[in-house]
Amino acid sequence: MNMIIKRDVDFIKCYFEDQSGLLGGNADEALLPENQEEAAVILKDYGSKSRPVTISGGGTGVTGARVPFSGTILATDSLNKIINIDKKNMFATLEPGVRLSDLQRELSGDGLIYLPDPAEPNAFLGGTVSTNASGAKGFKYGPTRNYIKRLKVALSTGDVLNIERGKIFAKKKSGISLPLKNKEMRIKFPSYSMPAIKSAAGYYIKDTMDLVDLFIGQEGTLGLILEVDVALGKRPESVMSFFSFFSSERDALSFVREARLKNALSIEYMDSNSLDLLRSRHSNIPAGSAAMVYFEQDCKKDYEEHVVDSWMELLKKHAALMDKTYFADSEREREKLAELRHALPEMINEIVKRNKLPKVGTDIAVPGEAFQEMFRFYKEKLVPSGIDFVIFGHIGENHMHVNMLPKSEEEFRKSKAVYMDFVKKAVSLDGTVSAEHGIGKLKHAFLEVMYGKDAIKEMAELKKSLDPACILGLDNIFPKELLK
Ligand SMILES: Cc1cc2nc3c(=O)[nH]c(=O)nc-3n(C[C@H](O)[C@H](O)[C@H](O)COP(=O)(O)OP(=O)(O)OC[C@H]3O[C@@H](n4cnc5c(N)ncnc54)[C@H](O)[C@@H]3O)c2cc1C
Repeated sequence: MNMIIKRDVDFIKCYFEDQSGLLGGNADEALLPENQEEAAVILKDYGSKSRPVTISGGGTGVTGARVPFSGTILATDSLNKIINIDKKNMFATLEPGVRLSDLQRELSGDGLIYLPDPAEPNAFLGGTVSTNASGAKGFKYGPTRNYIKRLKVALSTGDVLNIERGKIFAKKKSGISLPLKNKEMRIKFPSYSMPAIKSAAGYYIKDTMDLVDLFIGQEGTLGLILEVDVALGKRPESVMSFFSFFSSERDALSFVREARLKNALSIEYMDSNSLDLLRSRHSNIPAGSAAMVYFEQDCKKDYEEHVVDSWMELLKKHAALMDKTYFADSEREREKLAELRHALPEMINEIVKRNKLPKVGTDIAVPGEAFQEMFRFYKEKLVPSGIDFVIFGHIGENHMHVNMLPKSEEEFRKSKAVYMDFVKKAVSLDGTVSAEHGIGKLKHAFLEVMYGKDAIKEMAELKKSLDPACILGLDNIFPKELLK
C-alpha cells in the first residue's frame, strides 16, 4: 500500500477539530489512503480488529461529527479525483474528497453547475453526502439527497456496495436485503416516522425508501462513501442577488411571506444583531436596520428587467429601505454579496473558538404554518436571557440558525437550557432538531426529544447490522454506549 500513515500529533491534530468548537479530540494515527481499494482494505482490516475509525472530510462540519476521541482517523483528502463529467447525460462521477469549490470551478467551463451548492465551499463532497447538506439555494433545489444518483460504499465487514438510485427499495416493516454477491445480509429498519419537512436528524427512514437514501445523512456511522454520481444542471443564463434592508422586523417578515410564493433561488434572513456583528467588519452594512433579507433569482437574460421590477415592487410594498437595497447582476458583484452573507457564520465560528466554549447554534426547522410562532418564541426566550445572540438563515424554508454566544460557563449552561426549550417547542410543532447540519456528537439529547428513547435504540440496532464491529463514527447521532 502507498498510503500515508501519520502518528505525529503535530501533523494529525488538524483532524482533531471541526468548526463546532468541540474540544478534546484525539486519535492514535491518521491514515490517508491513496485510492479506493486501499480505503476499503483499511476498513475491513480495522473492522476485523474492532478498532474505532472516524472518517474525515473537509472538517467544515459544525456538530463535532468528524472529531475523533480514540482510534484512527481515515482522512479522505487524497480520494479527490473527478473521475468523469458526462456532459450529455448531465452527471459527474466523483471521489468523496473532491472539494465543492473545485467541483464548481471544473463544471463552470462547460456551463454546468452542481445545483444544490450545499454547505461551505471547502466542504468535501463525501462530507456533504454524509450530512445531507443543503445551502441557501435549498429553497429552490432542495438538499444534497435530491442529486445523488449512485453511491459506492465500503462497509467495515469488507463488503463494498454499489447502489444505484431507483434499483433497490426497502419496506419499513420488512427491512431490506443488501445487494451482496455471496451472502445474505438483511437489515431491519426502525419504526419511527420523519417529519414532512427538510431534515437531517438521524437516519433517513421511510416506507418503500430507496437504499441509497440510507447512506445519505448517516454521519460516517454506516460506511465509507468511496464514489458518488451526482446529477448536474445547466448554469442559469442570469442570476440576480438582492440585499434588502428593513427598518422593522415585522416588515421584513411580511415581505418574506409573499417572497416565498415567487420562484426565487434562495431567501435568507439576518436579524439586527447579525447586522451589527457584520458591520463591525463591513462598514457598508447600513446602521439602524432591523433586518435584512438576502434573495437570489435566476431567469433568462431577456427577462432580467421584468424580474428586477417585480421584486422592487414587492420590496416597496413591504416598506423596504429602497435607497439601501443592493442589487447584483454580474458574477463578480454577486460573489461579493455571497461572500458578505457567508462572512456571518465565519465570524460566529471565530467568536465560538475565541470564547473556548462549544457552539450553541440551532439548526431547527418547522412547518410553514408554525414559523411565526417559533420565531416569536425565539425572541421571547432570548431577549430577557441577557445572552448575546444572532438569528439568521434559510427563512424561505422556515429554517433559522439561532446562535447563542455565551462568554462564561454560566452563560453556556443557560444557553443550553434555552436551546432545550427551543427543541421542545419545535418538536411540539412537528419540526426537526436538525434541518441540515446533522446531530454529530453535540445534539444527542435533542434527537431523543424528537424521536424518543426507543427510536434511538432502533437506530443503534440499524447501525450494528451494517457495522457489526461498531467501529465507525462512534458517538455520532447517538451515544456509543447504546452499541453495547
Ligand atoms: C461558514 C460555514 C457555513 C456553512 N454553511 C452550511 C450550509 O449552508 N448548509 C449546510 O448544510 N452546512 C453548512 N455548513 C456545515 C458544513 O459545511 C457541512 O456540514 C458539510 O457537509 C461538512 O462537510 P465536510 O466535508 O467538511 O465534512 P466533515 O466535517 O469532515 O465531516 C462531517 C461528517 O461526514 C462524515 N464523512 C466525511 N466524509 C465521509 C465519507 N467519505 N464517507 C462517510 N462519511 C464521511 C464524517 O465522518 C462526519 O461524520 C457550514 C459550515 C461553515 C463552517
